[in-house]
Amino acid sequence: MAVMTGKFPGGCCTNIQHYSDRIECTPEVSPQALKTGMTNGHHEWRGLLWGEEGEQVHIVIHWPPFDPEKVDRTANEYWFVESFVGVAADIVFAGTDELTWTRLETGVRRDGWDIHIDVALPAGGKLYLSVNLPFTLKALEKLCEEFRDYRFSLGKTAGGLDIPAFRFGTGKRAIWLQANQHVTEIGGCYVLWSLMRELVKPETDLKDFSFFVVPSISVDKMIGDGHYPELKVDINRDWLEFHQPETKAISSYIRSLAENGYTMLVMTDMHNGWCRPEDSGGNITEYNHGFIDNEYWERRVKYTRAVLAALDYENPEKIWWHDRSVPRTFERYGSETYKAYSSTYEFSRFQLWDREKGAYVPISQEGLMKIGRQYAKFLLSYDF
Ligand SMILES: [Zn+2]
Repeated sequence: MAVMTGKFPGGCCTNIQHYSDRIECTPEVSPQALKTGMTNGHHEWRGLLWGEEGEQVHIVIHWPPFDPEKVDRTANEYWFVESFVGVAADIVFAGTDELTWTRLETGVRRDGWDIHIDVALPAGGKLYLSVNLPFTLKALEKLCEEFRDYRFSLGKTAGGLDIPAFRFGTGKRAIWLQANQHVTEIGGCYVLWSLMRELVKPETDLKDFSFFVVPSISVDKMIGDGHYPELKVDINRDWLEFHQPETKAISSYIRSLAENGYTMLVMTDMHNGWCRPEDSGGNITEYNHGFIDNEYWERRVKYTRAVLAALDYENPEKIWWHDRSVPRTFERYGSETYKAYSSTYEFSRFQLWDREKGAYVPISQEGLMKIGRQYAKFLLSYDF
């Protein structure tokens, strides 16, 4: 009989019960979070199964007892629980090494608030399962090792860990790319990993650019064994006052670049949007006309449209137009302080845009890596 645990970095599988014919798990969600329809900022579930090779295992993930009628939907535009359960059956990934993940296309179904998964254990009898494509600490370590020659010291997280950061090129035109301020929002981690691989190819001409890449800011939370304190400190609301060590470190590094004659051309911040079954959750944020000066607005919109046209990322219409009220985000910091092409890129948690088909396809690790290659080529060829 197979068993399951969540006790490994990133595992968040709790309240497990083993039966002869199935394993059941109820993720831990605080009563306060349930009352507001939130999920502790926790938009994933992860467990490790082990048993005999070839063994068939039936897993049931229960949502905790929850009354959707009692939630004030107007108070929370995203309604996280609904969004999690609504797409969960389409984003169950399996893997054996915490690095490579394959989406389960069959054997997964939703029944009310529960998700049922039927899998056979592979050779070795060990299988990681995850709702939401994972980017694990092991993957980050591998990335750091692969690009160790390009690593520079940016500063520390709140937990005292070095924030992994990498520099490519020596030019004075700076392209700043960062991801994973929010720990479960990992789309950008894979995109930036493959972008970095493109930048170091011998045939790549970095011209007069310097690329600064921060593939994962939330290192503390990544190693926090399933504790997601996002709702306590949202570092993407700290880019005005800079209380957190992470925002302090990044903003002071960028300030020193500007003081040393660098132009901040691009400042991209990658996230995953709060999807629902009828909405990919993906977009690029952009200002409404009239909220910033016109010349800057026109340049920005042209750039954003060019990005959308060049990548297998999102439907080209998916621009999230907003005014200046978006509070204290990195996007606003980059726009107002440096007049950079500074936007939030929200990746969908469950699909990507296929430009050839003109349609969405299911999200995959390889799909995200492909976007990284396309984005590198785009940035190196765009007429800034
Ligand atoms: Zn986010």
